[in-house]
Amino acid sequence: MRGTMLYGPRDVRSEERPYPTIVEPTDAIIRLSAACVCGSDLWPYRGADPVTQPTPMGHEYVGIVEEVGSEVRLIEPGQFVVGSFFASDNTCEICRAGYQSSCIHRQPGAPTGSQAEYARIPLADGTLVATPGLPPEDLIPSLLAASDVLGTGWFGAVAAEAGPGKTVAVVGDGAVGLCGVIAAKRLGAEQIIIMGRHDERIALAKEFGATDVVQERGDEAVERVRELTDGFGVHSVLECVGHGASTETAIGIARPGGAVGRVGVPQEETMPASLPAFFGNVTIGGGPAPVRAYIEELLPDVLDGKIEPGKVFDKTVGLDGVPEGYRAMADRESIKVIVQP
Ligand SMILES: [Zn+2]
Repeated sequence: MRGTMLYGPRDVRSEERPYPTIVEPTDAIIRLSAACVCGSDLWPYRGADPVTQPTPMGHEYVGIVEEVGSEVRLIEPGQFVVGSFFASDNTCEICRAGYQSSCIHRQPGAPTGSQAEYARIPLADGTLVATPGLPPEDLIPSLLAASDVLGTGWFGAVAAEAGPGKTVAVVGDGAVGLCGVIAAKRLGAEQIIIMGRHDERIALAKEFGATDVVQERGDEAVERVRELTDGFGVHSVLECVGHGASTETAIGIARPGGAVGRVGVPQEETMPASLPAFFGNVTIGGGPAPVRAYIEELLPDVLDGKIEPGKVFDKTVGLDGVPEGYRAMADRESIKVIVQP
């Protein structure tokens, strides 16, 4: 079968790979309907994370179940399934509390290798959610978004305590930030400020429900958000970038007593703006999104077309086009690339 391997910086290849097999009795094998290139795939691709050995790539996926292990009870061959990027049992105490990304049996980055024709999914009963019947083709991008970026944006909004009547700002106009706008709107926010500079992304943010745009950065951005919020700052900030400067901005625009939901993976050991956060009574939440916790809740809205997170995909490639997909995202020509095997 065809699959994607990363060999080193800027060296990703589509090549012949072994067909995955059941290893644990709790595994499933799925045939990929669609996968995508994640912002986090770009770190090793850009050389920011070392690549010590050829690595199978891809951890966002939807597909059809081909085969299940002997201990899989809930998932069956033939089902269309949406998974999440941490394999989790969904039954331990931490999962039941809604933090599947910290499951005591979690398998980070599992599955590895979903940018392929087939993939092995560990802990299938806990990790996968089956849709009622086979979804129509045109819903596949939005279902795929539910396997990562939608749930991540959603968690950012929840961690930022977004809700009815609240003012919300989203720092970062990538796929997660755009899904954060969908989440803030769906959670009832009154004002949603998107902070970004790319015209097409801002247009999509407005379509998703953003009410205001702030293109400034740093102190000017903080000033502008205060102007838009009667001088207070916003109740809720989604930090969807992970850089020191964006985190500082996020804390700077939170109003006293507000909350910041961090879903951009921090690029620095220490968190900036500790003093403003402390003296502003700003709650800092977030972390790796427990996407699995939200799939069932979000699926009906996706299936009804009430939310269309699949619009974040602006480039489609086949498996042979995956290297070009990485390049386009790394060079910021594309927001997010969908891979259709
Ligand atoms: Zn668990």
